[in-house]
Amino acid sequence: MLPLVALVGRPNVGKSTLFNALTRTRDALVHNQPGVTRDRNYGVCRRIDGRPFVLVDTGGLSGEEDGLAGLTAQQSQAAIDEADLILFVVDAKDGALPQDENILAGLRRTGKPVLLLLNKIDASDEHDARADFARFGFADVLPLSAAHQRGVDTLLEVIEREL
Ligand code: GDP
Ligand code: MG
Repeated sequence: MLPLVALVGRPNVGKSTLFNALTRTRDALVHNQPGVTRDRNYGVCRRIDGRPFVLVDTGGLSGEEDGLAGLTAQQSQAAIDEADLILFVVDAKDGALPQDENILAGLRRTGKPVLLLLNKIDASDEHDARADFARFGFADVLPLSAAHQRGVDTLLEVIEREL
């Protein structure tokens, strides 16, 4: 069985764009309307000199209700349950929102390893975004621009180390 890595976060933060960048496919539907990915979408991510893993894209969590069960679309919950590693994607342009904090609280309760990915760094200042998300308490955050494929190679290296 290949290890499973789940993309989790609010709608529209760029999960499907990142899924495409990591799997080099156009399988994930990218849209500027929230909630486009209704189902889970699986892809295998292979690197030349790395172990392959399965990546699962999800429709996103609203983060507007209390508790992981309440705030999670069932498909996202299923992906979180089966994941070995969770990629928590946030929108650096939007900054840290209460919904992000709610989602993170739920993710922390799973006890699984979580990486914080600051996406859309192309459209926002990295230094400001890092400062904004500092209260989430991650030792390391990964700045990314999924749309411009920036930070993707570093992300792959970090995933490799975590798995
Ligand atoms: P999802 O709902 O989390 O899967 O988000 P999508 O991947 O569908 O992307 C939502 C919107 O954000 C789309 O219009 C993307 O083109 C845009 N987007 C994704 N990644 C980036 C990025 O790195 N920078 C910018 N500026 N926009 C991005
Ligand atoms: Mg999507």
